[in-house]
Amino acid sequence: MLDAKRDATLLWIKTQEDAGVDILTDGEQSRQHFVHGFLEYVEGIDFDHKVKMGIRNNRYDAMVPVVTGPLKLKGRVHQSEAQIMRAHTQRKVKITMPGPMTIIDTLSDEYYGDKVKLAMAFADLLNQKARALQADGVDVIQFDEPAFNVYLDDVKAWGVDALHRCIEGLTCTTAVHICYGYGIKANLDWKETLGGAWRQYEEIFPALAASRIDQVSLECMNAKVPMHLMSLLKGKTVMVGVIDVASDVIETPEQVAATIGKALEFVPSDKLIPCTNCGMAPVARSIAVAKRNALAAGARLARSLYGA
Ligand code: ZN
Repeated sequence: MLDAKRDATLLWIKTQEDAGVDILTDGEQSRQHFVHGFLEYVEGIDFDHKVKMGIRNNRYDAMVPVVTGPLKLKGRVHQSEAQIMRAHTQRKVKITMPGPMTIIDTLSDEYYGDKVKLAMAFADLLNQKARALQADGVDVIQFDEPAFNVYLDDVKAWGVDALHRCIEGLTCTTAVHICYGYGIKANLDWKETLGGAWRQYEEIFPALAASRIDQVSLECMNAKVPMHLMSLLKGKTVMVGVIDVASDVIETPEQVAATIGKALEFVPSDKLIPCTNCGMAPVARSIAVAKRNALAAGARLARSLYGA
């Protein structure tokens, strides 16, 4: 199994290089789930007696593990992915991890009894892990916080503080990813309830613009997010989602370039990085590969059209 994970990671970075992607990831080939893949390395969590819980403000039910004791890292997390990537490419490499607010929204707590205390305990673990990944040569560390689009008041009250705790002492590039979720049915149904203009970002971007996080990754392609909201992130590098991960239709390079062109009205070219709306874990492999290739080809086309 370890060999298979290693091979999958190697293959994924090689094909990203071939496609012309500049910042490579491990593709999360070694994880069963973007949150649980991290939690497996944490002591104090019971995976054997999962409970059913409504998550993302009861958008859908999930079977979640339970916090039963003080949290502690069992060992290094994602170390082998980071080291394989560093050993096999000259390009920049990135590792993603779930953010504290999303983690605490994806498990049940029978020990801390206070969500902020629990989030900060996770932030400390994430910080330990991030420092170690930085030492492994990782260039970009991203925290995935889809929960930021759900608990808007919490983002301002403690979510950004928790992120600051995650990045304390880091000198590498730091990022936060905030999306409307994978293309699963519960998320698609939820999006239907959000109306003609999704304005969640408007509430939280000012707090992120004032934060010490370097980059913000957001959803754009086929999303009903008004694009001018990107201008609220002044000073930040903006990762613009130019690939819709909730549809199997492959974007053309022209479409990708056009989305980049529109985003350039609100984000300066040296601060814009095109990427996907979210991860592609639930997407069929051949479609994920085609979409990744469209991203790279569209970015190249945009560069020639706009000099960006
Ligand atoms: Zn996402």
